[in-house]
Amino acid sequence: MRLKTRLIHGGIDGDPHTGAVSVPIYQVSTYKQEAIGKHKGFEYSRTGNPTRHALETYIAELEGGARGLAFGSGMAALSTILSLFNKGDHLVVGDDVYGGTYRVVTRVFTRLGLEATYVDTSNLAAVEAAIRPETKAILMETPTNPLLKVSDIASLAGIAKSKGILLIVDNTFMTPYWQNPLDLGADIVFHSATKYLGGHSDVVAGLAVTKDAMLGEELHFLQNAIGGVLGPQDSWLLLRGMKTLGVRMEEHEANARALAKWLAERGDIQRVIYPGLESHPGHTLIQKQARGFGGMISFDVGSASRAEEVLSKVKWFTLAESLGAVESLISVPARMTHASIPPERRAELGITDGLIRISVGIEDVEDLIEDLEQALS
Ligand SMILES: *Cc1c(COP(=O)(O)O)cnc(C)c1O
Repeated sequence: MRLKTRLIHGGIDGDPHTGAVSVPIYQVSTYKQEAIGKHKGFEYSRTGNPTRHALETYIAELEGGARGLAFGSGMAALSTILSLFNKGDHLVVGDDVYGGTYRVVTRVFTRLGLEATYVDTSNLAAVEAAIRPETKAILMETPTNPLLKVSDIASLAGIAKSKGILLIVDNTFMTPYWQNPLDLGADIVFHSATKYLGGHSDVVAGLAVTKDAMLGEELHFLQNAIGGVLGPQDSWLLLRGMKTLGVRMEEHEANARALAKWLAERGDIQRVIYPGLESHPGHTLIQKQARGFGGMISFDVGSASRAEEVLSKVKWFTLAESLGAVESLISVPARMTHASIPPERRAELGITDGLIRISVGIEDVEDLIEDLEQALS
């Protein structure tokens, strides 16, 4: 089965009891048992719910893993994954991961005794050097947010294997349509399904998939124990949104390519960052490990005041946090998604005050170009 066909027919398709072609929303918390412990596979909806189960089966299949799990948000997925570790364990974390990832590691899990070192995961030697005897995992994103730095998943998986530690990849920006980290050797892949997977700015959700069944069992234990599960309505919304992931991703990318090219040809932008541009340092690598470049572009207009002006003038780009929806969104990471990162650290990373990030939607690209044209001039 090819990818778009798998998106339509993969996982658990429809409902065998009624012939409904859409998986029903099982709005239920508990299940009748015929005798004590004798049931049809579901006991209590924190542990398992048929609608959520359909979604979990679907994402596991799309990512090529043994077990999928759905959570109430991307951060709930990550927090559950981080609960695999113990006090004194150490993680090597990408140095420009999502702001909320940095926040939950530094301000929640380090309080519980987990240690972390932040490194540029596109620098393999730096990653190796940061690994200690207590290191249990590498946690990374590629491309990163908002600088779109590309890291070599297969090489990092090789390092992780040789040290006997886990490789955990946040695949939110690429989605399984463009990139499958488990196929490249990662152990766990997770998503903020709030973004491209949902795709319509109407659901907050997280998904995780493990390569092997044992680790999946462990993560399910934690999902049930901690309880940050996704409800049946939102599971259904995700199942519905993901059916069109293929056509949406193709459109996001076609529009992003055109916009990045147009921005790069202007003389008044300091830096255009898009992995699909030949000028991008990760351009060759991303083609080796992914089937596309995605729909995110960052560009530097030079100053905070110009960035603010652009944001106030755009008509079709909605000023909002988040990304990956059908509508184009625009933001200034330094003041929005990455505001929780201290200013000195932002400067170190290159998240300048004039840096604008756009999540390119699926509108007509001519309208998007005209809109940016009037906002920039
Ligand atoms: C949004 C986002 C998250 C967090 O997900 P939520 O669904 O908002 O909890 C994690 N990683 C990346 C790359 C994101 O964009």
